[in-house]
Amino acid sequence: MQAFDFVSARSVDEVVAALAAGGERARPLSGGTDLLAQMKEGRRSYATVVDLKRIPALMEVRIGDNGLWLGASVPCHTVNNNADIQKMYPALHDSTGLIGGTQVQGRASLGGNLCNASPAADGIPNLIVHSAVAHIAGPNGERQVAVEDFCTAPGRTVLQNGEVLVALEFPAPVKNFGAAYLRFIPRNEMDIAVVGVGASVVLSSDGQTIESARISLGAVAPTPLYVKAAGDALAGQPVSEETFEKAAQIAWEAAKPISDMRGTIAQRKHLAGVLTKRALRIAIDRARGTKTVDSLGRLNGNG
Ligand SMILES: Cc1cc2nc3c(=O)[nH]c(=O)nc-3n(C[C@H](O)[C@H](O)[C@H](O)COP(=O)(O)OP(=O)(O)OC[C@H]3O[C@@H](n4cnc5c(N)ncnc54)[C@H](O)[C@@H]3O)c2cc1C
Repeated sequence: MQAFDFVSARSVDEVVAALAAGGERARPLSGGTDLLAQMKEGRRSYATVVDLKRIPALMEVRIGDNGLWLGASVPCHTVNNNADIQKMYPALHDSTGLIGGTQVQGRASLGGNLCNASPAADGIPNLIVHSAVAHIAGPNGERQVAVEDFCTAPGRTVLQNGEVLVALEFPAPVKNFGAAYLRFIPRNEMDIAVVGVGASVVLSSDGQTIESARISLGAVAPTPLYVKAAGDALAGQPVSEETFEKAAQIAWEAAKPISDMRGTIAQRKHLAGVLTKRALRIAIDRARGTKTVDSLGRLNGNG
């Protein structure tokens, strides 16, 4: 491991000052489960690492009438064990529960997952379908960016020199809301997603019509994708296999993957469609508060 200066910041202002002073050679540290591995392997090199975990604003979890305020460095473990978050934002737990194992989840954060900006990050599609907004602080003050606009390229984000992600804010869920995240990996755990899909829906009061929906895809483009067209196609449609099929077709078209050691273009596009249908079925099941899907996300065992 290379030598670096370690700054244990106690306030957002201290982080911003340390990052601005260090420029490109300074980097924030949340759980370190990406950053320290990258530095240890020599893939990244920084002169200064600024620890965020002692800053109250970045470790805060606040649930109220306006929704959820999740500090950027809150570990996945805390999200996993918060019953309110699980109930109100059901898909978040789908990803925080599968990022690494128990030890990694004790350190890894959703903020770090987002700022690392991997196209295959398991946390990001869920932030998108839950309409999360990134709260950013920097030398020029504070600003907000919708999570779907946060990642700009593999490993790159909208964050400018001196800026830090302070928190993720989620709107309060409306009635009959459900969400889910699914990924495909060649083994059962501890692997990078070949494709990941997040889906959220708001159903009519009788649970038979989709009033609105959001779909997001991971690992099929240089950044996680918000597929607005798929959500638009679902709005106003009955809950049916035909409706799911339309959304799956749009997801298939939106997916622009590469072929690599984990999967081919054809396989990834196919998976984007299949997982869209399955994630939708689970999201609908959760919105209805029923258990009509099987372990593959098949509605009443069909499809
Ligand atoms: C064994 C293992 C298994 C893993 N499995 C998965 C998996 O299944 N799915 C998955 O998606 N990932 C996985 N990961 C990767 C990693 O755990 C996640 O991406 C995690 O969410 C990163 O969070 P962190 O808090 O550790 O980030 P860090 O490593 O602290 O930071 C990641 C990047 O974001 C920057 N950063 C962090 N916080 C901020 C902030 N507040 N403001 C600005 N920049 C910031 C850092 O400078 C760094 O560049 C795994 C890692 C390990 C070691």
